Amino acid sequence: MRELPDWLTDERETAALAAMLSPASSSSLEALAAESRAITLRRFGRTMTLYAPLYLSNYCSSGCVYCGFASDRKTVRHRLEPDETSRELTAMKKLGISDVLLLTGERTAAADFDYLRRSVEIAARTMQRVSVEAFPMSVREYRALADCGCTGITIYQETYNRERYEALHRWGPKKDFIDRLETPARALEGGIKNVGLGVLLGLSDPVEDALSLYRHLRHLGRTWWRAGMSLSFPRMRPQTGGYEPPFAVDDHLLARMIFAFRIALPDTELVLSTRESAAYRDGMSGLGITRMSIESRTTVGGYHDTEKKETGQFEIFDDRTAKEFCAALRKQNIEPVFKNWEPAYNGPSSEQNSATTHPLDAQPCH
Ligand code: SF4
Repeated sequence: MRELPDWLTDERETAALAAMLSPASSSSLEALAAESRAITLRRFGRTMTLYAPLYLSNYCSSGCVYCGFASDRKTVRHRLEPDETSRELTAMKKLGISDVLLLTGERTAAADFDYLRRSVEIAARTMQRVSVEAFPMSVREYRALADCGCTGITIYQETYNRERYEALHRWGPKKDFIDRLETPARALEGGIKNVGLGVLLGLSDPVEDALSLYRHLRHLGRTWWRAGMSLSFPRMRPQTGGYEPPFAVDDHLLARMIFAFRIALPDTELVLSTRESAAYRDGMSGLGITRMSIESRTTVGGYHDTEKKETGQFEIFDDRTAKEFCAALRKQNIEPVFKNWEPAYNGPSSEQNSATTHPLDAQPCH
């Protein structure tokens, strides 16, 4: 078994953050909220960037105990074919969405790298910004995705506690803790411009996981200082399999985490998804969170055929329409942002590309 890297356990790095997250912290939640709010306003203005997830496939070869798509779940498996993907994207576009996160499970024959790359190509024709949350890939594969218009990847470590990780990931490629830990660096080396990191709150000690998450981001930032970084704080939601999180995180602790990370990382995008309730998301708007998902479906597709009844990866909480959600933001004098970039910028980070061309990279996007 490969050793943990030194940076992951370096407590000197996280002393200030640990002090803010401690139950014995001298800073009240109100004081942290006020500081976080002021920083957010200064760095991001009164804006909220919006995106939506599109599940391409629910095939998976892994056995994560907390997931409704684990390979032992009795769920109907399917994937979107190219014409279905186009239809879904068109339906999303009609809702105003132009920033999409494409999701799959672990690599399978039904949803492999070529399938994902074709899906990115299709999405890049319709959407202004395309990111993926899928299986870990090689540098060459990430470079090929970047060439097709993928600008971001999301890859959560889920928990940084290696023993808990071993127990929760029962089988499959995701069992490899170190490989997953190294994945964001491979993506950046391949020219992906933005990486999203996160922990699934509830799986392990939340404060320990938050501190490790911070160290991971700082570690990446030392090498990839031009890259965009974002952090997410997803809490467990009910899912097929009925896994009950042993380390429940209440609203106050989650708020403390968001404020503390905003203070510690003023320029990092902080993300809050529809796993949270409408009231909680409204409460966090302007206080540290700068990016939110909207109109989420956790089934494969679901934007074109809204009548489809199937089990998603997990249950969403905030099911407001984009219109309703934007109205709530505007009520707080926050501007919803669907697009603040041009697709012309969507190529790979050129300074991070290798000078040599691997045969995989040479395959054109159509
Ligand atoms: S979390 Fe991802 S890798 Fe794990 S079972 Fe679910 S879809 Fe598969």
